[in-house]
Amino acid sequence: MRIVRYVTNVDDSRGKPTWGLLLEKYVYPLRQAPYDSPRLARDFAPEIEGAPMLIDEVKLLPPCDPRKIICVGRNYAAHAAEFGNEVPEEPAIFLKAGTTLIGPGESVILPSISQRVDHEAELALVIGKRARYLSPQDAHNIILGYTCANDITARDLQKKDVQWTRGKNFDTFGPVGPWLDTNWDPEGKMIRCLVNGEVRQESNTDLFVHSIGKVLAFVSQFMTLEPGDLVMTGTPEGVSALHPGDTVTVEIEGLATLTNPVIAGV
Ligand code: MG
Repeated sequence: MRIVRYVTNVDDSRGKPTWGLLLEKYVYPLRQAPYDSPRLARDFAPEIEGAPMLIDEVKLLPPCDPRKIICVGRNYAAHAAEFGNEVPEEPAIFLKAGTTLIGPGESVILPSISQRVDHEAELALVIGKRARYLSPQDAHNIILGYTCANDITARDLQKKDVQWTRGKNFDTFGPVGPWLDTNWDPEGKMIRCLVNGEVRQESNTDLFVHSIGKVLAFVSQFMTLEPGDLVMTGTPEGVSALHPGDTVTVEIEGLATLTNPVIAGV
């Protein structure tokens, strides 16, 4: 099942976001957010309310509305190595703000105070069920679905600052989408990042240092995972700089493709 979030008036992002079920090229409006269902996340039964629209006639938003965005740093050994870092023994967790989020096709804005803004292709997931003190084995039961994400990073500011907060949190630094897939299996999938059609990152989810189950279990020992929370699972090697005029694409095997233009900001 593919779930989207959208507004019907393409030119007016102030419209009320609606959740929808994507079936071929049609979006069927849902009565409520998928994680508001009383059923367990993976058994979510959509309730359609209203007439379908063609996907080309709606504006897709990030397929989540998280109260927190949880990210894993250095979760592929080859990416840790490209900056001379060790692989962390425990998952290296940081947060992004909701104001970073943009949907498919929206522009990543490069802030002029950074000389180096990188793409980071990542598999992301959305939590479907409130949880604490999970075991790695139980963690998959709380996942609503998977999507593509780009953990855009002002690399120079990330290195300069004690905390990563500024480098990771400029507005538009969190492209996500285009949909949540509730049936997709994250095991052994290719993940790629292309800039202007040229492959810059290429790896496989088999190469996670810390598995999805382990990451969710680890985080749930210190904070409550809530329905709608977004988790970004880390990026593989090959991160590189973005420039105004670029088009950046995250591609995950059998899941989706997320494309965003890149423009200069103030
Ligand atoms: Mg990252």
